[in-house]
Amino acid sequence: MAEKDLATDTLPEECLLEHSKSAASTRAATETTAKEKTTKETIRTEKPKRKYPLERLRNIGIAAHIDAGKTTTTERILFYSGIVHKIGEVHDGAATTDWMEQERERGITITSAAISCEWTNKGGLFPGASHAINLIDTPGHVDFTAEVERSLRVLDGAVAVFCGVAGVQPQSETVWRQMDKYRVPRLAYINKMDRTGADFLGAVEDIRGKLGGNAHPLFLNMGAEDQFKGLIDLLERKAYVYDESDPNGMKFDVIDIPAEYQAVAEKYRAALVEALANVEDRIADKFLEGQEISTEELRQAIRKATLEMKFIGVIPGSSFKNKGIQMLLDCIVDYLPSPLDLPPMHGECDEKTVDIVPDDSHSPVGLVFKLMTDPFVGKLIFYRVYTGVVKKGMVLYNPRTRKQERVSRLVLMKANDRIDIDQACSGEICALIGPREVVTGDTLCDKEFSVCLEPPTFPEPVISMSIEPKTKADQEKLALGLQRLAEEDPTFRVTSNAETGQTLIAGMGELHLEIIRDRLFREFKVEADAGRPQIAYRETITQKAEGEGKFIRQTGGHGQYGHAIIKIEPLERGKGVEVVNEIVGGVIPKEFIKPTQDGLMEGAQNGVVAGYPVVDFRARIVDGSFHEVDSSELAFKMAGIFAFKEAMKKAKPILLEPIMKVEVTTPDEYQGDIMGDLNRRRGQIQGMENKGSTTIINAFVPLEMMFGYATDIRSLTKGRASYSMETSHFEQVPANLLSKIVETASRAPART
Ligand code: GDP
Repeated sequence: MAEKDLATDTLPEECLLEHSKSAASTRAATETTAKEKTTKETIRTEKPKRKYPLERLRNIGIAAHIDAGKTTTTERILFYSGIVHKIGEVHDGAATTDWMEQERERGITITSAAISCEWTNKGGLFPGASHAINLIDTPGHVDFTAEVERSLRVLDGAVAVFCGVAGVQPQSETVWRQMDKYRVPRLAYINKMDRTGADFLGAVEDIRGKLGGNAHPLFLNMGAEDQFKGLIDLLERKAYVYDESDPNGMKFDVIDIPAEYQAVAEKYRAALVEALANVEDRIADKFLEGQEISTEELRQAIRKATLEMKFIGVIPGSSFKNKGIQMLLDCIVDYLPSPLDLPPMHGECDEKTVDIVPDDSHSPVGLVFKLMTDPFVGKLIFYRVYTGVVKKGMVLYNPRTRKQERVSRLVLMKANDRIDIDQACSGEICALIGPREVVTGDTLCDKEFSVCLEPPTFPEPVISMSIEPKTKADQEKLALGLQRLAEEDPTFRVTSNAETGQTLIAGMGELHLEIIRDRLFREFKVEADAGRPQIAYRETITQKAEGEGKFIRQTGGHGQYGHAIIKIEPLERGKGVEVVNEIVGGVIPKEFIKPTQDGLMEGAQNGVVAGYPVVDFRARIVDGSFHEVDSSELAFKMAGIFAFKEAMKKAKPILLEPIMKVEVTTPDEYQGDIMGDLNRRRGQIQGMENKGSTTIINAFVPLEMMFGYATDIRSLTKGRASYSMETSHFEQVPANLLSKIVETASRAPART
C-alpha cells in the first residue's frame, strides 16, 4: 500500500473534521511546543522495516477444557520451534507457560502468557517462508472464562484442543461458543491419541454433533493408544511415521500410505473433498464435473473456508508422546489467518464508529488485553497493535483516563525471557512497560487520533468474601495489592463498606478468590484472612419509575444546592447499566451532569432490596434545578444518589441470584440419586444423554445450592461421578427465600 496517512482514509469525514478540530484546540490549550514536537515526530512515521510482513504473522490462541493438554501442546510448540531446548512436563511443574508459582503447584494455567515463536512449513501453501507465531495460552478452568474471553478478543485464529478420549467436554463447549462470538477461525487438535480409549473419528463426530462445527480430518491417526505411530496426510497421500528411537519426536519417516490404511485414507480424503465442494464454489465445479482437483487447490479451499468460518480442519496427535505437533504447526501457518485476513476492527471516535485496519503508516491504535505484575520490571501491559507502529519512548494516549503516558520499554515474551524490542508493528502482540494508569480493555493510541476500541465483555462476579489483613499494619499493603490485582483482572472486584470499613472481594468462583489470596501473599507479602464465600447477588428493577433527588442546605454559611429528576426503566438481562443525559436548556449546568451521573452510579452500587449492586437498567436524567452560588459537584452527586434510591423503590425491585450450568457424568446406576439430589438443590434438569454405561445430566442450579457439591457427589456415588459447572445467567430469587437473604444481608451490610 502506498505510504500515506491512512487516518484520513479510515475516518468518516465528519468524524475527521471533529477530530482535527479537537486536536487543534487541545494542542493550543495544553501542549507545550516541545511536547507537541515529540508527539508529531512519533506519529507519522516512515513505514518501518518489519521483521515479518503482515501476511506472515499468526496470532493464535490455544483453548480447551482443563486437562485436555493445552499446556503440554504449547510447551511442545515452543520446543519444536526452537524457543526452548528442553521439553518440560506439566506434571513435574516445569512447563514454560505456567510461570506463575501457584499455577505450577496447581498444575493449571490461570493466566494467558503471550509467547512469540517462529515456524517454517517446508511444504504447504507457503513453502520455505518463515512465519511469526504469537501464542496465547488460555486457561481452562471454569473460574477463568474471562481470561479465555479476553485473549480471544485479540487473536486472529485459534487451535481448539480436545482430549481424544473425552471428546467434547463442557468447558470446550464454552470456549467454542466464545470463539463463535468473536468469529475466531480455528483448527481442532485431538490430543492424547496415545491414551487408552482414544478415538479420533469419534471426537470429530463429537465436534460436529455437539458443537455444530463443519469439522473434517486433514490427517488420520496411524494406530491409536500405545500403537499410535504417526499421522496419515490425506492431502499429500503420505504417512509420517515417528522414529521411536528419538524420544523427542524430531524424526519421522515420510512414506507411502501403508496398504492397510489406504482404503480408509481414500474414504476420508473423498469426504474432505466433498465437504470442501459444499462450501467452495471452485471446488464444487470441478467436483461435479469429475475433474481432478490439485492438492494446492484443496489447500487454498481449506484456507478460504477456514477463514470464512465454514470449515474446521482436524488433526490428531499426542503432545505428550511428541507426535503430530509439527503437522499442527504446518496447519497453523497454512490455514489460520494473518491480521490482513480479518475484517476491520471497530473503534469509536467522537461517538461514531470507525474501522481500524492494519497499516504501519497510520498513527498507532491498540488494545490492552492483559496486565501482569512482574517481579522484575513491574507492570507488564500486554498489548495488541491494531494499526500503526508503537515505538520505545513513545507517548500514548488513554481515552478513558484522558492521560498520556510514556512507553519506556517494549518487550516480546519468549517463554520466560523478555526480549527488548524497539518497535511493534500493526498486527503484532507485545508487552509495554511504563504506562501506569492502565486497566485491561483500555485502548492506547495517539492523542491526535483518539479512538476507543470495543473492550471485551466480562461476566459479573458470582462469589464474594470479606478479607482483612492478619496484622493491622498491613492494611495499606492489602489495599495496594487488591487494587493492582483488580486492574489486571476485570472479573475480580474490590469494594469496601463505608460504615463497617470491611473490604470485600468478588470473583468468578472459590478457586479464583483463593488464588487472589495466594497472590497477595506471594507478590505483595500480605497475609490475609478471608470470610466465608458468599453469593454475589444482584438487584434489578421490573418497571419504569421516576425519582427526584434534592440536596439542599441553605442555613448559614456556604450552602449546598443539588436537584435532579431521573427516570429509570428495566433493560434486558445482561445489558448492564446505561445512563443518558437528557437535560436541555441548562436546567442542570453542564459541569454538574457528570457529578449527577456519578451519584446515580454510586446509588446503584447498593440497591434498595438488600444492598447489592443494581444491574440491567437505563437511567435518564430529565430535569432538575441549580443555584448560582450554592450548587456544587458534591451537592449534585448527592442529588443523583437520592434520585436513584427514590426511583428504584418505586420500580418494583427484585433480587437476582447466579445460576450455574452443571454437567454431571455418572455411571447409570447413580442416575436416580443424582437427579433427586439436583432437584433438592433447586436444580432444573435440562437434558440427559446416555453414552455406553454412563449418563450425562445437564441442569441449571442456583450457585447458592452448589457449595460443597464436590464432597456430596463423591459420597453419593462412591467417587464415580464427576461434574463441571460454569456461570450461566442470573435469575430472580424465589419469594420464599428472599426474606432470609435480606435478613442475612442486613446483618453484614458490606457486599459487592
Ligand atoms: P491443560 O490443563 O489443558 O493445560 O492440560 P495439560 O497440558 O496440563 O495436561 C494435563 C495432563 O494430561 C498432564 O498430566 C499431561 O501430562 C497429560 N497430557 C497432555 N497431553 C497428553 C497426551 O498427549 N497424552 C497423554 N497420555 N497425556 C497427556
